[in-house]
Amino acid sequence: MMEPDEQGLLLACPQCGQRNRLRYEGFGTTFRCGKCRSELSPPAVPIDLASERVFTALTTRSTLPVLVDFWAPWCGPCKMVAPEFTKVAAASAGRWIVAKVNTEQLPELASRFRINSIPTMVVLQRGTEIAREMGALPAARITQFLEQSIRR
Ligand SMILES: [Zn+2]
Repeated sequence: MMEPDEQGLLLACPQCGQRNRLRYEGFGTTFRCGKCRSELSPPAVPIDLASERVFTALTTRSTLPVLVDFWAPWCGPCKMVAPEFTKVAAASAGRWIVAKVNTEQLPELASRFRINSIPTMVVLQRGTEIAREMGALPAARITQFLEQSIRR
């Protein structure tokens, strides 16, 4: 289980169960469990961002680029593309972070980013938007878009 807060990601160590906080500033470096010292992998699953404060903390402090999927529960294409984002996160190998924002839950954030069609994915680096793309895409295309955005 994994839970983002305003400092980092709370994560139970798979070896000893100890709760650890992976600080956003340290993404991309090696984390070790505070109790048993085993290595903790950076998140390879999409992170659900439930508040604007957590969104801001993650996107401005993360040393890795963050791909944000703006979605809504009523949106069919969003449901179709969800497993694709999961694949992109699984293949991230510490190169990027995948996060999700439910626009029903955070309408003000969605409006601040002028999200007027979903799904929309936005790439942020140090809190600044560097690219966006609308519509549902397969994982390979999302990865390609992400790699091109980061290289730019
Ligand atoms: Zn441990």
